[in-house]
Amino acid sequence: MATKVVYFTVDGKPEQAEFRSDDTADELKDTFRAAAEANSDDILKLYNTKGNLINISPKLPENTPDTRYKLEVVALHCNGFPYYMMQIDNVLATQFGVVIKDLESRIEMLEKKVFVENGEIPPVVGELKHKVEHLREKLEGVDHLSWLGLFKDISCGTSLKPFWDKTQSIKKTEEHNRMVFEKFKKISQVQVTDEVREYLRKPTFDNWQWDDPEMIILLRQMYIDLDLVSKFNIEMNVLHQWLYEIYKNYNQVPFHNFKHCFMVAQMMYGLTWLIDLRSVLDDVDIFILLTSAICHDLDHPGYNNAYQINAKTELALRYNDISPLENHHCFVAFEILQKSHCNILRNVSKEDYKRIREGMIRCILATDMAKHNEILNNFKSVMKNFDFKSQEHKSLLLMILLKVADISNECRPMDVAEPWLECLLQEFFNQSDMEKLEGLPVAPFMDRDKVTKSSSQIGFIKFALLPLFEALRELFPVIEKDIIQPVRAALEYYTDMQKALEEEKKKGREAAKQRMDKDVIKSKIQT
Ligand code: 5GP
Ligand code: MN
Repeated sequence: MATKVVYFTVDGKPEQAEFRSDDTADELKDTFRAAAEANSDDILKLYNTKGNLINISPKLPENTPDTRYKLEVVALHCNGFPYYMMQIDNVLATQFGVVIKDLESRIEMLEKKVFVENGEIPPVVGELKHKVEHLREKLEGVDHLSWLGLFKDISCGTSLKPFWDKTQSIKKTEEHNRMVFEKFKKISQVQVTDEVREYLRKPTFDNWQWDDPEMIILLRQMYIDLDLVSKFNIEMNVLHQWLYEIYKNYNQVPFHNFKHCFMVAQMMYGLTWLIDLRSVLDDVDIFILLTSAICHDLDHPGYNNAYQINAKTELALRYNDISPLENHHCFVAFEILQKSHCNILRNVSKEDYKRIREGMIRCILATDMAKHNEILNNFKSVMKNFDFKSQEHKSLLLMILLKVADISNECRPMDVAEPWLECLLQEFFNQSDMEKLEGLPVAPFMDRDKVTKSSSQIGFIKFALLPLFEALRELFPVIEKDIIQPVRAALEYYTDMQKALEEEKKKGREAAKQRMDKDVIKSKIQT
């Protein structure tokens, strides 16, 4: 029987195979498969020296070592997941992705149209929106579809590192949001009592007594009672939609969540009344302050700027390591305001919009603690002859006010403030645990092995909080009693706690030493 020899390379390695003239195409392929150590269902591709694909059949021309064919194997199984399934998924996901995106934009158009015609969005449209969101969520949750990243937001569709820990679900589910919205809608007709409205103006306000839908109602009350609803012609339905969107865009993280947003807004609101800010600032400034407070930590992932920068996350890359989080909070704030059905600025003049946007960006970016000393020093230098008519002075004052509200937990009563400290430390520890795992630098103030409640607060109050609050007191002495005194009391409380801790440690060390001494004496007696 006549035989022929063909030469080829597989994976760069030279091989040769001998065929009989009566071998079938399948037998030929089996021989090639054996040479390539390929599976029976893998696809074989044979190329000639010109790079053209050629058929593996008994008619395959003989060649020489100088004119070798090139054999390639296409694995049908990829990471244990069948290749053809991935192709099917790819098609499905692409099609679903297009369909979902199309549905979403059509619903948004519908929302706009209905809103313009009726002044409010009927429940059936909301229902439809919820259903599509639910479908998207379900598809995102299917493991073998999610690898495509087609439905994920901007941070996941790229090869860049996401800016939160995806193994922990920090995003609110559609079901959760829906429940909150239902309750919010139910109570939205209820009048907030005068007693609660009065209490809401106090720095002693206790957030732990209120649930999320109630806090949304209280935020609404702030806009009503500061006359911002009437001054900026905000439609009630738009205010509701905006607040709900804000709520959805705060994550379920230990500290930087919707409750923190509420507390910062509430302190800003309390300061507005305490200092009587309305007698020195105009409505636009008051609007900037309250709205910046509400938006200032939107979509916070629970990992700070240092982590973003060290881990080279997508946010750090996008914003060139310059306040990545604060830039992101601001971006999300204006992204929400782009949607007309929740744009509380839709009826303001162009000039007011420009001022509000500039003011909010300035204030939110100022909450980056890396800028703390710079902003405080600038404020102190204008304080010598502060002029409420100067734009520059006023703009610094707005930044300082938001910064004060942002770090104001320690002026709250102890039973309100202490749980907040526990939340903050929980978030710090989560981050430092992750940094240890990833081999990234760990800040000592976040390290569970180095920090205690008292050590954390003593340093923070002495070096960050009091200098800032005392600078504001220069301008508004009225804050001494309700804002500064409670902080001093907290500093005392934590100083005592630290002393007690050190005392205990000292006692422990002495007891250990005594035990050791006894052991030494005993061993001497025995010998
Ligand atoms: P935020 O991230 O909330 O916009 O900026 C405030 C930052 O100041 C927090 O991330 C946190 O690092 C720090 N901070 C605020 N309140 C406290 C506090 O009570 N104790 C300590 N140690 N740090 C605080
Ligand atoms: Mn904050």
